[in-house]
Amino acid sequence: MSRNLLLISTSTTYGTGYLEHAQEEIKALLQGKSSILFIPYARPGGISHQDYTAKAREAFEKWGISLSGVHEYDDPVKAVKEAEAVFIGGGNTFVLLRQLYQNKLVDALQERAAKGMPYIGTSAGTNVAGRTIGTTNDMPIVHVKTFDALQLVPFNINPHFLDPDPNSTHMGETRDTRIAEFHHHNRQPVVGLREGSMLRVQGDKMQLLGPHSARVFLQSEKPMEFKPTDDLNFLLDVY
Ligand code: ASP
Repeated sequence: MSRNLLLISTSTTYGTGYLEHAQEEIKALLQGKSSILFIPYARPGGISHQDYTAKAREAFEKWGISLSGVHEYDDPVKAVKEAEAVFIGGGNTFVLLRQLYQNKLVDALQERAAKGMPYIGTSAGTNVAGRTIGTTNDMPIVHVKTFDALQLVPFNINPHFLDPDPNSTHMGETRDTRIAEFHHHNRQPVVGLREGSMLRVQGDKMQLLGPHSARVFLQSEKPMEFKPTDDLNFLLDVY
Protein backbone atom coordinates (compact mmCIF):
# COMPACT_ATOMS: atom_id res chain seq x y z
CA MET A 1 0.00 0.00 0.00
CA SER A 2 1.47 3.37 -0.91
CA ARG A 3 -0.27 5.23 1.91
CA ASN A 4 0.44 8.92 2.41
CA LEU A 5 -1.34 9.96 5.59
CA LEU A 6 -1.09 12.65 8.24
CA LEU A 7 -3.23 11.75 11.25
CA ILE A 8 -3.40 14.69 13.61
CA SER A 9 -4.75 14.45 17.16
CA THR A 10 -6.35 17.89 17.26
CA SER A 11 -6.85 20.78 14.85
CA THR A 12 -6.01 23.37 17.47
CA THR A 13 -3.60 23.19 20.38
CA TYR A 14 -3.83 25.48 23.39
CA GLY A 15 -2.66 28.96 22.41
CA THR A 16 -2.30 28.32 18.66
CA GLY A 17 -4.67 28.96 15.75
CA TYR A 18 -6.57 26.46 13.61
CA LEU A 19 -4.10 23.87 12.17
CA GLU A 20 -1.20 26.17 13.05
CA HIS A 21 0.77 23.59 15.04
CA ALA A 22 0.71 21.16 12.11
CA GLN A 23 1.27 23.59 9.26
CA GLU A 24 4.81 22.50 8.37
CA GLU A 25 3.76 18.84 8.21
CA ILE A 26 0.64 19.68 6.17
CA LYS A 27 2.65 21.77 3.70
CA ALA A 28 5.22 18.98 3.34
CA LEU A 29 2.48 16.40 2.71
CA LEU A 30 0.86 18.61 0.06
CA GLN A 31 4.04 19.57 -1.75
CA GLY A 32 3.32 19.85 -5.48
CA LYS A 33 -0.48 19.90 -4.97
CA SER A 34 -2.64 22.98 -5.52
CA SER A 35 -6.02 21.83 -4.19
CA ILE A 36 -7.63 19.76 -1.46
CA LEU A 37 -11.12 18.35 -0.91
CA PHE A 38 -12.49 19.01 2.56
CA ILE A 39 -15.01 16.69 4.20
CA PRO A 40 -16.92 18.76 6.77
CA TYR A 41 -19.35 16.00 7.83
CA ALA A 42 -18.27 15.85 11.51
CA ARG A 43 -19.76 19.32 12.08
CA PRO A 44 -18.10 20.31 15.40
CA GLY A 45 -20.60 22.04 17.66
CA GLY A 46 -23.28 21.45 15.02
CA ILE A 47 -21.73 24.03 12.62
CA SER A 48 -23.01 23.90 9.01
CA HIS A 49 -20.98 22.25 6.24
CA GLN A 50 -20.65 25.65 4.62
CA ASP A 51 -19.34 27.46 7.69
CA TYR A 52 -16.96 24.63 8.55
CA THR A 53 -15.60 24.60 5.00
CA ALA A 54 -15.07 28.37 5.13
CA LYS A 55 -12.94 27.94 8.25
CA ALA A 56 -10.79 25.23 6.68
CA ARG A 57 -10.55 27.18 3.42
CA GLU A 58 -9.11 30.19 5.22
CA ALA A 59 -6.25 28.09 6.63
CA PHE A 60 -5.36 26.28 3.39
CA GLU A 61 -5.61 29.35 1.20
CA LYS A 62 -2.93 31.01 3.30
CA TRP A 63 -0.65 28.19 2.17
CA GLY A 64 -1.60 28.59 -1.50
CA ILE A 65 -3.87 25.51 -1.59
CA SER A 66 -7.44 25.94 -2.86
CA LEU A 67 -10.04 24.06 -0.85
CA SER A 68 -13.51 22.89 -1.82
CA GLY A 69 -16.11 21.23 0.39
CA VAL A 70 -17.40 17.81 -0.68
CA HIS A 71 -20.98 19.00 -0.10
CA GLU A 72 -20.51 21.52 -2.93
CA TYR A 73 -20.48 18.69 -5.50
CA ASP A 74 -23.52 16.93 -6.99
CA ASP A 75 -21.55 13.69 -7.02
CA PRO A 76 -19.42 13.40 -3.85
CA VAL A 77 -17.97 10.02 -4.91
CA LYS A 78 -16.65 11.57 -8.12
CA ALA A 79 -15.26 14.47 -6.08
CA VAL A 80 -13.24 12.02 -3.95
CA LYS A 81 -12.13 10.05 -7.01
CA GLU A 82 -10.79 13.20 -8.63
CA ALA A 83 -9.37 14.97 -5.56
CA GLU A 84 -5.66 15.78 -5.40
CA ALA A 85 -5.81 15.33 -1.62
CA VAL A 86 -8.47 14.94 1.08
CA PHE A 87 -8.82 16.52 4.52
CA ILE A 88 -11.41 15.23 7.00
CA GLY A 89 -11.98 17.64 9.86
CA GLY A 90 -12.92 16.88 13.46
CA GLY A 91 -16.22 17.05 15.27
CA ASN A 92 -18.51 14.17 16.17
CA THR A 93 -17.10 10.88 14.93
CA PHE A 94 -20.50 9.12 14.74
CA VAL A 95 -22.04 11.93 12.69
CA LEU A 96 -18.99 11.84 10.41
CA LEU A 97 -18.89 8.08 9.83
CA ARG A 98 -22.64 7.90 9.29
CA GLN A 99 -22.48 10.46 6.51
CA LEU A 100 -19.42 8.83 4.93
CA TYR A 101 -21.50 5.64 4.61
CA GLN A 102 -24.68 7.47 3.58
CA ASN A 103 -22.84 9.20 0.73
CA LYS A 104 -20.94 6.02 -0.21
CA LEU A 105 -17.55 7.62 0.29
CA VAL A 106 -15.93 4.82 2.29
CA ASP A 107 -14.85 2.71 -0.69
CA ALA A 108 -13.72 5.70 -2.72
CA LEU A 109 -11.61 7.05 0.17
CA GLN A 110 -10.07 3.63 0.82
CA GLU A 111 -9.17 3.18 -2.85
CA ARG A 112 -7.63 6.62 -3.24
CA ALA A 113 -5.72 6.49 0.06
CA ALA A 114 -4.32 3.03 -0.75
CA LYS A 115 -2.92 4.46 -3.98
CA GLY A 116 -1.10 7.31 -2.26
CA MET A 117 -3.51 10.23 -2.36
CA PRO A 118 -2.53 12.52 0.55
CA TYR A 119 -5.02 12.15 3.41
CA ILE A 120 -5.15 14.52 6.36
CA GLY A 121 -7.34 13.84 9.37
CA THR A 122 -7.79 15.85 12.52
CA SER A 123 -9.43 14.29 15.55
CA ALA A 124 -12.65 12.64 14.26
CA GLY A 125 -10.98 12.62 10.82
CA THR A 126 -8.12 10.74 12.45
CA ASN A 127 -10.48 8.35 14.27
CA VAL A 128 -12.07 7.28 11.00
CA ALA A 129 -8.67 6.48 9.47
CA GLY A 130 -8.37 3.69 12.04
CA ARG A 131 -9.85 0.23 12.10
CA THR A 132 -13.02 1.14 13.99
CA ILE A 133 -14.37 4.19 15.79
CA GLY A 134 -14.65 2.20 19.04
CA THR A 135 -12.05 4.36 20.81
CA THR A 136 -13.41 7.81 20.03
CA ASN A 137 -14.10 10.15 22.95
CA ASP A 138 -17.40 11.21 21.38
CA MET A 139 -20.94 10.39 22.42
CA PRO A 140 -22.90 8.23 19.96
CA ILE A 141 -25.40 11.01 19.20
CA VAL A 142 -26.54 9.34 15.98
CA HIS A 143 -26.82 5.71 15.01
CA VAL A 144 -24.19 4.32 12.64
CA LYS A 145 -24.75 0.98 10.92
CA THR A 146 -21.22 -0.20 11.77
CA PHE A 147 -18.24 1.07 13.76
CA ASP A 148 -15.91 -0.16 11.00
CA ALA A 149 -13.98 2.82 9.74
CA LEU A 150 -11.78 3.47 6.70
CA GLN A 151 -9.07 1.11 7.98
CA LEU A 152 -6.25 3.04 6.35
CA VAL A 153 -4.20 1.79 9.31
CA PRO A 154 -4.85 -1.51 11.12
CA PHE A 155 -5.12 -0.07 14.63
CA ASN A 156 -7.46 2.27 16.50
CA ILE A 157 -6.71 5.78 17.63
CA ASN A 158 -7.73 7.74 20.68
CA PRO A 159 -7.17 11.41 19.81
CA HIS A 160 -6.95 14.18 22.42
CA PHE A 161 -5.44 11.50 24.66
CA LEU A 162 -5.55 12.73 28.25
CA ASP A 163 -3.36 11.55 31.12
CA PRO A 164 -5.11 11.16 34.47
CA ASP A 165 -4.68 14.07 36.84
CA PRO A 166 -3.26 12.55 40.06
CA ASN A 167 -4.92 15.30 42.15
CA SER A 168 -8.35 14.94 40.61
CA THR A 169 -11.30 13.79 42.71
CA HIS A 170 -13.30 12.91 39.59
CA MET A 171 -14.54 9.32 39.78
CA GLY A 172 -15.28 8.69 36.07
CA GLU A 173 -13.14 6.28 34.04
CA THR A 174 -9.69 7.36 32.88
CA ARG A 175 -8.71 6.94 29.23
CA ASP A 176 -6.47 4.02 30.27
CA THR A 177 -9.47 2.31 31.92
CA ARG A 178 -11.73 2.83 28.92
CA ILE A 179 -9.11 1.48 26.53
CA ALA A 180 -8.49 -1.52 28.81
CA GLU A 181 -12.25 -2.18 28.62
CA PHE A 182 -12.06 -1.91 24.82
CA HIS A 183 -9.36 -4.58 24.86
CA HIS A 184 -11.61 -7.03 26.68
CA HIS A 185 -13.68 -7.12 23.51
CA ASN A 186 -11.33 -6.13 20.69
CA ARG A 187 -7.84 -7.17 19.71
CA GLN A 188 -6.38 -4.30 17.66
CA PRO A 189 -3.80 -1.94 19.19
CA VAL A 190 -4.87 1.56 20.22
CA VAL A 191 -2.65 4.60 19.88
CA GLY A 192 -3.37 7.37 22.38
CA LEU A 193 -2.35 10.57 20.58
CA ARG A 194 -1.82 13.56 22.86
CA GLU A 195 -2.77 17.03 21.62
CA GLY A 196 0.02 18.33 19.39
CA SER A 197 0.94 14.82 18.21
CA MET A 198 0.49 13.39 14.71
CA LEU A 199 1.20 10.16 12.91
CA ARG A 200 2.88 10.39 9.52
CA VAL A 201 2.32 7.20 7.52
CA GLN A 202 4.20 6.62 4.28
CA GLY A 203 3.65 3.18 2.81
CA ASP A 204 4.69 0.71 5.51
CA LYS A 205 6.52 3.27 7.63
CA MET A 206 5.08 5.32 10.43
CA GLN A 207 6.54 8.14 12.44
CA LEU A 208 5.22 9.98 15.48
CA LEU A 209 5.57 13.77 15.09
CA GLY A 210 5.09 16.59 17.57
CA PRO A 211 6.45 17.29 21.03
CA HIS A 212 4.94 14.39 23.00
CA SER A 213 5.25 10.65 23.32
CA ALA A 214 2.28 8.49 22.34
CA ARG A 215 0.69 5.91 24.62
CA VAL A 216 0.32 2.57 22.90
CA PHE A 217 -2.10 -0.05 24.18
CA LEU A 218 -1.73 -3.67 23.11
CA GLN A 219 -4.24 -6.26 24.23
CA SER A 220 -3.12 -7.97 27.48
CA GLU A 221 -0.04 -5.76 27.87
CA LYS A 222 0.69 -2.79 30.10
CA PRO A 223 0.38 0.53 28.24
CA MET A 224 3.68 1.63 26.67
CA GLU A 225 5.10 5.05 25.88
CA PHE A 226 6.76 5.65 22.50
CA LYS A 227 8.83 8.76 21.76
CA PRO A 228 8.89 10.44 18.33
CA THR A 229 12.26 8.81 17.62
CA ASP A 230 11.03 5.27 18.44
CA ASP A 231 10.14 2.71 15.80
CA LEU A 232 6.37 2.43 15.45
CA ASN A 233 6.30 0.49 12.19
CA PHE A 234 5.17 -2.70 13.95
CA LEU A 235 1.76 -1.08 14.44
CA LEU A 236 1.20 -1.26 10.68
CA ASP A 237 1.35 -5.07 10.82
CA VAL A 238 -2.17 -6.40 11.16
CA TYR A 239 -2.87 -7.99 14.55
N1 ASP B 1 -14.62 15.02 19.09
C1 ASP B 1 -13.26 14.78 18.69
C2 ASP B 1 -12.96 15.71 17.52
O1 ASP B 1 -12.67 16.81 17.73
C3 ASP B 1 -13.00 13.32 18.39
C4 ASP B 1 -12.70 12.52 19.65
O2 ASP B 1 -12.39 13.14 20.69
O3 ASP B 1 -12.74 11.27 19.59
O4 ASP B 1 -13.09 15.44 16.38
